[in-house]
Amino acid sequence: MAYSAKVDDLTVRGAKQTALHERAAVTALQIFGRKVFVRAVIEVSNFCRENCCYCGMRRDNHNLARARAHHDELAELLIHHRPAAVTDVNIQAGEDPVAAREIVRPLVRTLRRETNLGISVCLGTLDYAIYEDLKAAGASIYILKFETADSHKYDQVQAPGSLAERLNHIRWLSANGWKVSSGFIAGFPGQGESELLNNIRLANELPLHGSSVSPFVPGNDTPLSTAAPGNVETTLNCMAILRLLRPNWVIPAVSALNLAQAGNGYRRGLRAGANMATINLTPPDLRRDYVIYKRDRFIMDEERVLSAIAAEGFSPSRQSLADFYRNGLPGKVREEAVLSAR
Ligand code: SF4
Repeated sequence: MAYSAKVDDLTVRGAKQTALHERAAVTALQIFGRKVFVRAVIEVSNFCRENCCYCGMRRDNHNLARARAHHDELAELLIHHRPAAVTDVNIQAGEDPVAAREIVRPLVRTLRRETNLGISVCLGTLDYAIYEDLKAAGASIYILKFETADSHKYDQVQAPGSLAERLNHIRWLSANGWKVSSGFIAGFPGQGESELLNNIRLANELPLHGSSVSPFVPGNDTPLSTAAPGNVETTLNCMAILRLLRPNWVIPAVSALNLAQAGNGYRRGLRAGANMATINLTPPDLRRDYVIYKRDRFIMDEERVLSAIAAEGFSPSRQSLADFYRNGLPGKVREEAVLSAR
């Protein structure tokens, strides 16, 4: 029988929670086998024209040294020094059209020419013309999170533009050749279970290929810095529910899970049905001021990511995410998935 999301599964704990996560993990196993997509993230600019209350890179935060990376340094890193397990790169920035045009677009072009990496971008709500330029340069996956399905909460936390506008961009991107991944934050102050359930329902309705769930982390130098953090157990339950609703989706284990649950959150994400891991390759000088949550970020470097994957009995996928979105899984992986799920 098809699974439908319910409040009980959001709040479940103990043995029933373990059973929910195991069911989600088996669902992922039946599709993807014991493979996890491994991408690199590279953060290229911490300039941002937006003012989200939950993010340290908001424009009103003047305690941050703003900087943009240099194309040549990033190209050298990604072409010649990326970890062998990496099949995809996600190029990320604050909402900074200058960086999108002057750094990201040439970098995408260079990577398309010099590598077979799948290329995702996570650059915020931009002009349609910039999306087209990035696609023409060779990017194929756009990550645009809707953060919350509640339009009042969306305005309250000063997320970019309006929720309706954000959703229009997600739909436009999907209708214009992009594979789109989105996501929401679990545990915003005052967020009830029905709002969380609505987040899941909205993600399920949108034309997406994947979605993340991040626990709310009260960021340094933000208006929400003294708020209580989101609950990791509830976040993991949201991930498991998404997996049960969308067996084919790519659902990342996000590094914020580790912030909320020192070092172990990532592995628990994989145990709750996640099938993607991200190695942070941002050069350290830029990373210091790329403060989405806190300055003392728990950085998922190559060693931590590969250890977490191995410890859960998985191995890195050799197929890129972009290729999976384009062509589906190779027959061999499908056969292995059937065997490993038995
Ligand atoms: S969440 Fe994104 S758009 Fe909002 S302030 Fe942070 S970097 Fe800017």
